[in-house]
Order: sequence, then structure tokens, then C-alpha cells
Amino acid sequence: MRKPDNAIKKVIIVGGGTAGWMSASALANSLKKNSVDITLVESDQIGTIGVGEASIPHIKTFNRHVGITEKDFMSRTQATFKLGIEFVDWKQKGHQYFHPFGPYGVDMDGVSFHAFWQRLQTCGHSDTLDQYNIMAMAAKQHRFRHPVQQKNTPLSEIGYAYHFDSALYASYLRGIAENKGVRRIEGKVVNTTLRNDNGFLKSITLENGQTLEADLFIDCSGFYGLLIDKVFKVPFVDWSHYLPNNSAWAVGSEKLTSQPPFTRSTAVEAGWQWRIPLQSRTGNGIVYSNVHTDDQSAQDTLLQNIEGKLVGEPRKISFKTGHRAQFWVKNCVAIGLSSGFLEPLESTSIHLIQSGISRLIRLFPDLDFEQIDIDHFNEQSVTEFQQIRDFLICHYKVTERTDSSYWQFCKNMEIPDSLSRKLSLFESRGRIFRENEELFNRYSWLAVMVGQGLTSRGYDANADIYSEQELKKRMSDIKHIIDVNAKSMPEHGAYVENYCKM
Ligand code: FAD
Repeated sequence: MRKPDNAIKKVIIVGGGTAGWMSASALANSLKKNSVDITLVESDQIGTIGVGEASIPHIKTFNRHVGITEKDFMSRTQATFKLGIEFVDWKQKGHQYFHPFGPYGVDMDGVSFHAFWQRLQTCGHSDTLDQYNIMAMAAKQHRFRHPVQQKNTPLSEIGYAYHFDSALYASYLRGIAENKGVRRIEGKVVNTTLRNDNGFLKSITLENGQTLEADLFIDCSGFYGLLIDKVFKVPFVDWSHYLPNNSAWAVGSEKLTSQPPFTRSTAVEAGWQWRIPLQSRTGNGIVYSNVHTDDQSAQDTLLQNIEGKLVGEPRKISFKTGHRAQFWVKNCVAIGLSSGFLEPLESTSIHLIQSGISRLIRLFPDLDFEQIDIDHFNEQSVTEFQQIRDFLICHYKVTERTDSSYWQFCKNMEIPDSLSRKLSLFESRGRIFRENEELFNRYSWLAVMVGQGLTSRGYDANADIYSEQELKKRMSDIKHIIDVNAKSMPEHGAYVENYCKM
């Protein structure tokens, strides 16, 4: 039994970026009955990283948890809807595919839809996967609507996320957290002290001399890794041999005339470029490896490919892909960029913040800081990073591009065994298995593996349950229903304007 006086009473969060304010608002909500004192320290002088505009659908769960309504969130963060990501020039120049947030076709008699699709491909059918996905079809026409609560229609399967201004999101969350009693202190942390008996963090000291003590510290200091790195010296597990990008330029441009409900990712000579539509402007950036190009050439590529006038000046960001060997050590938990970064390709960083917070809430310690809880937190965090890493590597490894040293490197690089196995299973009979509740499901893997050009030698024999004629009829009906329903959806820009104008 836990002793009654053993509860954590004081928590300090260092950092007020997306990670800091998401942690503060969520903890304030979850710990409200425990009367825990939460303080967040941030430094305006240092500022935040200021990027992170695209999300995945799970953010809706986070927003609900902290009591944010969708309309309010969208109008206050200038958000638009996101049905998925359009990948341009990734498999080869001139090719494009869509990674949607939801299912393809329908499974029939317990057999995965994609097995039937693959069977027809081997019979010479050329239908694309997109034609069997409501989000992909709506995205092409810049259409959006919320899913309907009704059975037997693809409109009930619309999965979506948002594009939003992350600085506005952080300040929105700040308001929520402060309303729930979180105290914010402006100041730069310049020193720390450890306890003599156990090496736990005792206090942090600010530039003005103020010293703050706590039982638990959350390191949300971004790439600085102020506590996890500088104090606890936890090693960094470097994945740049798998994910070689290490630099980015980011810049805004005027809003697009027709707002696409999707992020566009365009592969370029030594990396890729993003386009993220917000209500007020468009976010653009290039992510690249400075081993394969130089900063000026990367910036030139970015600027050449931007539609419309620039808003502001390009900003350079450097990063390293990988993660801390431990995310939680003694009484310090790293959340956000301080814990690791996997590059922005599939917009997973904010999700990793969310899952880190939810894991911390589920394993919330008392003053005993049981090592088994800490170990479990660390194992789960590493597994989650590895699973997402594999999905990201798949985009680079499975490509036909060899037109630059960068793409030659990607095509030939060694990959983790876990990914090799996944790719080999697909190459055999097109099978995909979702392992250990991994973030990306079979539809996501299918979209990217097929989109990048991976083919299978045969198809799953379970797809033989119908005659070819019957299967063709069923597939044609599915395609027709998706087509008709996509066309019935309203135009995205108008929908946003009516629903949640900024
Ligand atoms: P930061 O925003 O850097 O915040 C760090 C905080 O710590 C700041 O408040 C700073 O002032 C404070 N701090 C640091 N040192 C001190 C100190 N000594 N004293 C006091 N305070 C201190 N994620 C997505 O989900 N989607 C995307 O589309 C996406 N795009 C990205 C594109 C790029 C190029 C990059 C690099 C990242 C992208 N990310 C994206 C990741 C996303 O930006 C981050 O996950 C998110 O912003 C969280 O950052 P953070 O809060 O950990 O760090």
C-alpha cells in the first residue's frame, strides 16, 4: 500500500513550447484532484522552435482530454482539415500517391480488402488504391466533410487531423493550464542542484537567482535537453544512418487560393519539401541532409517551389534524428524534442508528446519512484520510436530514385531487421501485420509500401473466395460508391469558412 504522505506534491516543467504546454494542461487536468502544484518555467529570450503545423488524428483525443472543442481550437489556431499526405516525386519523378487517414475499400468475408485489390492487379487491373479510399478521392477535389454517424457508407470512415499554427496552440494551452492553476514563471534556467543521497534533481536556479524545488521535473526544453542531457548526461541513440536528414529551412507564404485538405510532401534532390495550408497562410519548409547538399542550394530549392509571395524570411533549423537512451531517469522525464526527434515526414512529433504525457499519467510516480515503472516507461517509449522510425525509413528505402547521391544512399542503406521483415512479408504475398499496437496501421503501411513502388510476388490465397467475375463486380461497386460520395462532399475552404473561421 502506498503511504498517504508519499504523493508527489510539486512538479516543475522546464520549457513552454508545444511539449511544455501540452504537458502542463494535461497534467493539470489529470492531477486536479491530487492538488499537485505545477510550475512551468520558460524563457522568452530563448523562444520555441516555432515549427510543427501538421498533425495526425490522435490529437483530437488530446484536445478532448483537456476540454478543447474542435471549433474553438480550429478558429483560434487558424486551422484547416487534413485528410492525409500527398507524396509527390517520392517513388520516381512525376509520380504521386496519397497516404490517407483511413481505410481502403471494405474487408469482405473476413479477408482484407487489399488482398482482393492485389489479386485484381495480378489479373492486369490498373485501378489505383486511391480510387478505393474516400479521403484520397476527396483530397484530389479539395473537398471535406466530417464523418457521418451512419452504417454502410464510406462517409462514416472519414479520418482526419488538422494543420494549425503551433505557436497559437501553445498559447491556447497556456490559457487552459493557467486556468487550472498552473503557475508560469518567465526566466532562463542557468543552474541545477542534485540531492547528495540519491542523485535526484533537487532544484533549478533562474538567471535572476530564484531557486525552485520540486519532486518531479519534466524536461520540455526542446533540442537543448537542459535536464536529460546537460544534467543527467543520458546518451543519444543516433539514427542518422537510417534517417539522414539533419537540417531544415522553414518559411511562410500567402494562403493558397483553393485550400487543399492535405499536406503535400515533395521529394527533392537531397530531401523533401512540405506545404501545409493554414487559414491565414501556407507553411513551407525543406528538410534535407547537409551531407548531400549545402544550405544555400537547399534554400534555393525551397524558394523555387513555393506558390505565392513569401511571408517572413526563411529560418534555418538543425537537428539530429534519434532518441535519448532513457526518456525517464531518476525524477526527470523528457517529453518533446528533448527526448528525441524522428524528422517531420509523417507529422508524428506532436503525437509522441501526447503519448509520452499519457504514458506518464498512467505510470505517475510517488516519492518512491519505483524503478519498474521507470523501466516500463522507457521500454514503451523506445518501442514507439522504433516503430515510427521503421515506417519513416520505408519512404526512403523503397524508391526507384537514383538521380542523386542522396537517393542512392537511401536506396542502398542498411535498414533495421524489423523493417526488412515487414517489407519481405509484403513482397511475398502482400501481407501486412500491425505489431504491438504500433501507431501506423495496415492502411498506412499499404499506402506507403505500394505508393513507394513495393510489389508482391503473389497475393494472399484467401482472396480466392470469389470468382473473378464476382470480385470485379464487387470492386467496381465499391469504387463507384466512393466516387459518388467523394463528389457529394463540400469544398474544403468553404467548409472551414462556415465551420470555424479564424
Ligand atoms: P521547443 O518548441 O523548442 O520549446 C522548448 C522550450 O524550452 C522553449 O519554451 C524554450 O524557451 C525553453 N527553454 C530552453 N532552454 C531553456 C532554459 N535554459 N531556461 C528556460 N527555458 C528554456 N511536429 C509535428 O507534429 N508536426 C510537424 O509538422 C512538425 N514539423 C516540424 C518541422 C521541423 C523542421 C522540425 C525541426 C520539427 C517539426 N515538428 C513537427 C516537431 C515539433 O516542432 C515539436 O515536436 C514541437 O514543437 C515541440 O517542441 P518542444 O516543445 O519540445 O521544444
